[in-house]
Amino acid sequence: MTELSSTVSMDKIVSLARRRGFIFQSSEIYGGLSGCWDYGPLGVELKRNVKQAWWQATVQERDDTVGLDTSILMHPKVWEASGHLQGFSDPLVECKNCHMRWRSDELKEPKCPSCGGELTEEKMFNLMFKTFAGPVESVENIVYLRPETAQGMFVNFQNVINTTRRKLPLGIAQTGKSFRNEITTGNFIFRSREFEQMEIEYFVKPGTDEQWFEYWHQERFNWYIKLGIKKEHLRLYEHPKEKLAHYARRCIDVEYLFPHGWAELEGIANRGDYDLRQHSKVSGKSLDYYDDDTKEHYLPNIIEPSAGVDRSLLAFMCDAYAEEPDKDETRVVMHFNPALAPIKIAILPLSKKENLAAFTKPIFNDLRKQWAVQYDDTQSIGRRYRRQDEVGTPYCVTVDFQSLEDNRVTVRERDSMHQIRIPIVELKKTLEKKLAGEDILVLPPGGEVVQAKGKE
Ligand code: ATP
Repeated sequence: MTELSSTVSMDKIVSLARRRGFIFQSSEIYGGLSGCWDYGPLGVELKRNVKQAWWQATVQERDDTVGLDTSILMHPKVWEASGHLQGFSDPLVECKNCHMRWRSDELKEPKCPSCGGELTEEKMFNLMFKTFAGPVESVENIVYLRPETAQGMFVNFQNVINTTRRKLPLGIAQTGKSFRNEITTGNFIFRSREFEQMEIEYFVKPGTDEQWFEYWHQERFNWYIKLGIKKEHLRLYEHPKEKLAHYARRCIDVEYLFPHGWAELEGIANRGDYDLRQHSKVSGKSLDYYDDDTKEHYLPNIIEPSAGVDRSLLAFMCDAYAEEPDKDETRVVMHFNPALAPIKIAILPLSKKENLAAFTKPIFNDLRKQWAVQYDDTQSIGRRYRRQDEVGTPYCVTVDFQSLEDNRVTVRERDSMHQIRIPIVELKKTLEKKLAGEDILVLPPGGEVVQAKGKE
């Protein structure tokens, strides 16, 4: 068993998120609503970037997947077929420690059979939020807010196959809100009642499912590492056969070492043909796939990598957070991968003087066409660097009075704090290269190193 513990406390992340406008409590002025969160100006950028990075890796850069965006409200029969209606209407208790839910009428002792933890009060509990479609609040008008995005992809499988003329293996990917009336919420945005998912349903020929299951759990593990999560903070956990959900043949979780311990970031399941078989049975429609190569009809198997946007975002925040000695002080830095950083570049004119502002604004306006850029001209330059470090801005561009003479500006890198001075005509191209990973000390024509680390 590893002795590792998280390098940051949840309090620090919650406080930074609140202070700098990443995440607020929902309905805060009314005392908040438990299990719901609002993303502030920086949080919404970070969240968009997490989803964009996922979309790029799972749809944009692949030949074998397509995107989809399905509705949150679906026909109630969907939840009958999926098992969500029956599965969640028992008297339930939940373990306060490991969050396993148990049918209270089946428990032999008043403690969690899995870990021995304390149990919540018994409730007749269906995890799905219920509402009514249309003006009449009658039983036949009951609809549910989806507890996962997956079902929208299963029921559209035929539509996608028929309209895209794709062959298997084929993945359908979507991001979107899901709702679960969790008995216990907590650990900041880790477990909420309204959250966002990023799910792929990957349809394969039966018999090839194991091979694709192996592929996908590795692929998804590597995605987090590519985006900067430290390998030692990630691990894979395979669910033992006897604890698998009724639909799963195998399931492996990607776990992250959160401040509250190792916990699921994403689950990758081999669902066999359970979903298409169920929907075919309940809808009465054939969901068979005709394989042109082998001239066979069959129900595809499904591999499902299912990730949480909010959980990933929390992991990216925890892993990026650092407190580093800086002269006599400590600087707080978010070492976000540039692809995730909410602001890519800060433009900092040395003073508010009009001639400097007039010179700087066109540079700002040019860069913001391409990136999320922030213009900041208040307080000392050192304070401004610190503010940008704390929200993870990879590069600051400082414009000073010398710039008016020599048409050059200073580019300062967040992580190394190195500074280079380069011609404005080279700025855009240089930033493009730096954001793509080029060393700050590689200079464009006419550039020079002006300051080494720690001498700000
Ligand atoms: P947990 O065991 O933590 O409740 P789960 O196994 O029920 O999670 P899945 O049904 O596999 O979760 O959902 C896939 C992903 O959706 C999870 O890995 C997680 O990232 C995210 N997710 C699920 N429930 C929540 C929630 N209540 N709040 C935030 N994210 C969630």
